[in-house]
Amino acid sequence: SSKGRIYNFSAGPAMLPVDVLEQAQKDMLNWNGSGMGVMEMSHRGKEFVSIAKAAEADLRTLLKIPENYKVLFMQGGATTQFAAIPFNLTTPEDTIDFVETGAWSTKAIKEAKKYCKVNVAATSKAENFTHIPEESNWTLTPGGKLVHICYNETIGGVEFKDIPRCADDVTLVADMSSDFLSKPVDVSKFGMIYAGAQKNVGPAGVTIVIIREDLIGKARADCPAMFDYKLAADNDSMYNTPPCYGIYICGLVFKKLLSIGGLEKVEEYNLKKCALIYDAIDGSEGFYKAPVAKNCRSCMNIPFTMASKELETEFFAEAAKRNMVQLAGHKSVGGIRVSVYNAMPMEGAEAIAQLMQELLARSKQ
Ligand code: PLP
Repeated sequence: SSKGRIYNFSAGPAMLPVDVLEQAQKDMLNWNGSGMGVMEMSHRGKEFVSIAKAAEADLRTLLKIPENYKVLFMQGGATTQFAAIPFNLTTPEDTIDFVETGAWSTKAIKEAKKYCKVNVAATSKAENFTHIPEESNWTLTPGGKLVHICYNETIGGVEFKDIPRCADDVTLVADMSSDFLSKPVDVSKFGMIYAGAQKNVGPAGVTIVIIREDLIGKARADCPAMFDYKLAADNDSMYNTPPCYGIYICGLVFKKLLSIGGLEKVEEYNLKKCALIYDAIDGSEGFYKAPVAKNCRSCMNIPFTMASKELETEFFAEAAKRNMVQLAGHKSVGGIRVSVYNAMPMEGAEAIAQLMQELLARSKQ
């Protein structure tokens, strides 16, 4: 890998494009001739306001976000949204229908239960979260108005490939933290999409909320100000001091994705990368075992196991020798997890696939 950088397969925070980091380095002391760095700017000043406006405009272009949706740059990570969603979109008597497909849906459910009613409409827990329950088998609340899904489960490596076809009067809310901007998505099919930034977009803490306008302005009276989508929308995401530097980095990433041809191109590249690794798994006659059903394998997070801890330890050691790190599966599931977010270059995916082939060949000697 170039410039002394290693291939970091972390599930997040994760790699950012090298040219984005270089631009940030260049701007650090003196952004665009302003004589100051972005971290030092007033969020009310014309310099930062221009940065924030460009970031929003570029994100709108990238995702083709319809006019009747607001883009909010919030704080506190996707975890904060687990609470903000009930505060903004339900009363304590309303029910959110959750589809539980992994550890992050489970966390969202646990948090929502504190603030509203929850119905687990479907779960794959009994199968260790290795598939997505068929939509025809979801048991939705009669008259329910809100369905929550986790579009990509970062730990289990399970990803929706189609948008659920909810009824017209049902609002679909999706946690897209770990596949946001990895592929085109039809925003109009969702009431709300949210994502923590630290996988494909920028620094942890920045949280992007894309929400249809008619859903805004219904927050409970006791909704904390920092959770309130209306306050955020009415104040251009600057009700308080926003995470200015983080938003600036996100903006650089949006420009980068536009410059390489937008999300169709990003998806094409990502599909090639994950195919290298899935092919290495599928061609290994069980030397590597991927638990997830093929129709919902994540393009971002690829978990697999080997026959013993010793083999996995050898895998990590060999990988480290070749400058490949952060490959251990989440502590709750073990095994190996290869995360190949947008900024992972093709060479990184090739290098890990090559390592997988070599260890397989070695095992046959
Ligand atoms: N949802 C998903 C799918 C995630 O992957 C994560 C973090 O990894 C979260 C939510 C929580 O995000 P945060 O740590 O930004 O609160």
